[in-house]
Amino acid sequence: MSRVLVGVDLGGTNVRAAVATGPATHAAVVRHPTPAQDGPDAVLDAVAACAREAAGDAEIGGLAIGIPGPLDPRRGIVHAAPHLAGWREVPAGDMLGARLGCPVSVRNDATLAGFAEWKAGAGVGASHFIFVTASTGVGGAVILDGRLHEGTGSAGEVGHTPVGADAPTCSQGHNGCLEGTASGTAIADAARRAVAAGEKTRLADITPADIDAKAVEEAALAGDEVAKRLFAVAGRALGRAVGGLINLLGPEVVAIGGGLINAGDLLFGPLRAAVPEIAFEVPASHCRIVEAALGTDAGMVGAVAWVVHTFG
Ligand SMILES: [Zn+2]
Repeated sequence: MSRVLVGVDLGGTNVRAAVATGPATHAAVVRHPTPAQDGPDAVLDAVAACAREAAGDAEIGGLAIGIPGPLDPRRGIVHAAPHLAGWREVPAGDMLGARLGCPVSVRNDATLAGFAEWKAGAGVGASHFIFVTASTGVGGAVILDGRLHEGTGSAGEVGHTPVGADAPTCSQGHNGCLEGTASGTAIADAARRAVAAGEKTRLADITPADIDAKAVEEAALAGDEVAKRLFAVAGRALGRAVGGLINLLGPEVVAIGGGLINAGDLLFGPLRAAVPEIAFEVPASHCRIVEAALGTDAGMVGAVAWVVHTFG
C-alpha cells in the first residue's frame, strides 16, 4: 500500500483535506461542512473522514492540521476555538492520531498560512519573513533564519502586540493589542460606536447588529469619510506594529493578508505611511511590505507544506 501525507485546513464552516504532491503542492481538495456546533468529537470525526477520503486507498503516513484558535503546538492541545462550540483544552493531536493511526502535527491556521506564504507565496526566497493576516482576528507567523520561529511554542502572534494602553480590547481580553484595533471585528465595533455617537455616515442606515467589516469596506470604497477613517486607523495600527517588528526582527519581507486587504490603498496607504513612525530607516529600507499572494488558499497550502516539512 502506498503512503501519503495529508494536510487539513479546519475552519468554522468547512473542513478541507488534500494529499501532498510536493513541498507546497497538493492533489484535489476534499471539502465537507464542519459540524461546528456538535463538539470536538464530531468535528474530529469529520476531519478523519475527510482525510481518509483524500487519501483514497493509500495509507496516511502523517497529517498536519491548521486550527483557528490559540493552541499548544508541541502537545497538540487546542486551548480554545472561537468558531467551534465546546472546544476548551482539546487534545486534538492525540484524538486525531487515535482515529487515523498516524502521527499528527497541530498548528494555528494563521501560522500555517504564513508558512505557505513563505514556501510558495509572497515570502519565497526570504530568510527572514513576517506574515500578518488581518480578517475577523489578526494572526501571523514569523520565519527567522529560514525556519518557522515558535519560541516556547506559540510565538509569532503578531496580532497581539501592543498598540497602546488606551486602545480597545481584543477577542482574547488583552487591553490595547493590535487585534483590538486592526481586525474586522474591531472595525465593525468602531463603526457601531461612530453610528451611536451620531456621526454622519451611510453606515447609520444599517441595523447596528448587521454592521460588519465588509459593510464598512463597501462604504469606504464608496467614499464614506467615517468608513475611510476606520480603515485608516486600522492601517496605521498595522503599520506601527510592522515598524516595531522591523526593528525587532529585521525581516526582508512583511506580507499582509486577510480579508481587510480587500480595502486596498484605504488600508495600505495609512499602513505604509505609519511604518516610519516606529521603524529605523535602514532596516526599513531593507524590508519590502507586500500583499500576501495566496489568498484563501494559504491555509490549505500551509497544511500541506507543513506535513511535508514535518513528516516528509
Ligand atoms: Zn490580543
